Amino acid sequence: MFILFGTKGRAIETDSGQFHCPNCNIKEEYGKKYVQDWFTLFFIPIFPISGKKNDHIECRKCESIYHTDVIEYKPAISDEEMESEYEKALKNVLCLMILADKKVEEEEISTVSNIYNKLTNDKKFTKNQIDKNITQLKKDKKTVNQYLKKIKPYLNSGHRELIIKAMYFVASSDGHLDKKEGELLMKTANVLEMTSAHVKGVLAELDKKNNN
Ligand SMILES: [Zn+2]
Repeated sequence: MFILFGTKGRAIETDSGQFHCPNCNIKEEYGKKYVQDWFTLFFIPIFPISGKKNDHIECRKCESIYHTDVIEYKPAISDEEMESEYEKALKNVLCLMILADKKVEEEEISTVSNIYNKLTNDKKFTKNQIDKNITQLKKDKKTVNQYLKKIKPYLNSGHRELIIKAMYFVASSDGHLDKKEGELLMKTANVLEMTSAHVKGVLAELDKKNNN
């Protein structure tokens, strides 16, 4: 006889409750789960072989998967309000990246303008508006955490990756990633609760695309 063994990722539920599912747009039941790799024998999971990873929230109705922050999602905010909050946050973090190395460069400004336009379905963020935003940031002296605080619970993992990618493009638009720029990038990832392995994966994917 032969023995058939292998591994399998299992989602294990640790909690449940009610939340406002952004996809269903009504109150639904959710399950809080993590994923763990199990050793299997004849397809039957026998024992776990990895740590607990990818804590997430799953809507029982539509099966959408969200970051655990979604529990804080307040339906009081409309789609339009959310969009405008996301755009405001995006403008601020991109301008923070321009300021990271203390030099405001033309390439950085035009990169911010282009990226913003792409990520918002053609909305404008002109050089003039960027200059004003930068002046405001210098006055505010707020951290990236403060700029992302309000919108964070509404961001899914796709949004989070986009923010990191956009910031990376701005940081490297002058040809190199400055130390301060790298620090801001990692700090933002931290605020967005992305692991450094996740960020490295996202950036490696970008570099691969650029080299092709
Ligand atoms: Zn749902």
